[in-house]
Amino acid sequence: MTALPNQTRTVTLPWMGKEYSELLSQSLTNLGINVQLPPLTTDKTIKVGVRNTAEMVCFPLKPTLGNFIEALDNGANTLLMYDSQGQCRLKHYCKIQEFTLKGLGYDFEMYNINFGNVLPVLQALSGTSYLRILRELFHFYGQIKKVDKRKIRWSHRKPNIGIIGEIFTCCDERINYGIEEKISKLGAKPVNTVALSSFIKDGFFKKTHLPTKTRRYGREAQKYLNGTLGGHGLENISHLLELVDKNIGGVIHLLPMSCMPETSIEPFVNTICRDSNTPLLRIPIDENTAEANLETRLETFVELIKMRGEK
Ligand code: SF4
Repeated sequence: MTALPNQTRTVTLPWMGKEYSELLSQSLTNLGINVQLPPLTTDKTIKVGVRNTAEMVCFPLKPTLGNFIEALDNGANTLLMYDSQGQCRLKHYCKIQEFTLKGLGYDFEMYNINFGNVLPVLQALSGTSYLRILRELFHFYGQIKKVDKRKIRWSHRKPNIGIIGEIFTCCDERINYGIEEKISKLGAKPVNTVALSSFIKDGFFKKTHLPTKTRRYGREAQKYLNGTLGGHGLENISHLLELVDKNIGGVIHLLPMSCMPETSIEPFVNTICRDSNTPLLRIPIDENTAEANLETRLETFVELIKMRGEK
């Protein structure tokens, strides 16, 4: 499985939310793996990714490829990419990235990591036992659960604004322009329903990522679809049904441009929000998104929700 001796290995992984990525990096380091995260995602990172990917491919491929290029330029020689094992393009990102980067002349080893192969991959990279890896993974899971608890918590004092959408866009603060922080600064509480911990838990124990605590909404959500959809389309309908049932102040639907599952559920999201009289703001994100425009739309939206609350 491995060609590089582990002593000469510098492992990197793309950003997917600063806190999540740093926690994962720390856990890999605890296993004895030499990890070097890429420089934080900037406009330049995205430009590099855009230049080397198909124009119409879904957006997360572009910054993640840009992360890899910048990490390789900084001396990384082993790339770790998440593979959802799902039905969406994320499953194939690692292959597209590997093909593109080899074509650009980079020399490296690539590992796709998923729920089925996490133990052998981490063992190959660290040379440590399954038991120690499992312990570290449980520790990592506990850490991200703490992060997610904070993200999902509702406020009793401020208007709550639910966030649903594609996982990378909802979790990575550079990609969504720090939307949670912006909402908080505008005096509302973001309730980000897209939690990495649920994705991991459901991925390990089931084939679909149906929310375990909220089966009722999950069953209801399934009625909108003709079987599995990929990504988090089903989960997002389910989360939305729960949010409107609990009388959320408003909902933001975040999605990368040309995201298949999220564009597919758009009509259902629109109808559920309209029928429950819940304000909805949809924000598609790609390399052409202007932060100032996003801020203006967000300010207006939060103001509207505050006014409705006062009434
Ligand atoms: S969920 Fe959307 S953005 Fe993610 S891989 Fe699938 S199509 Fe692309």
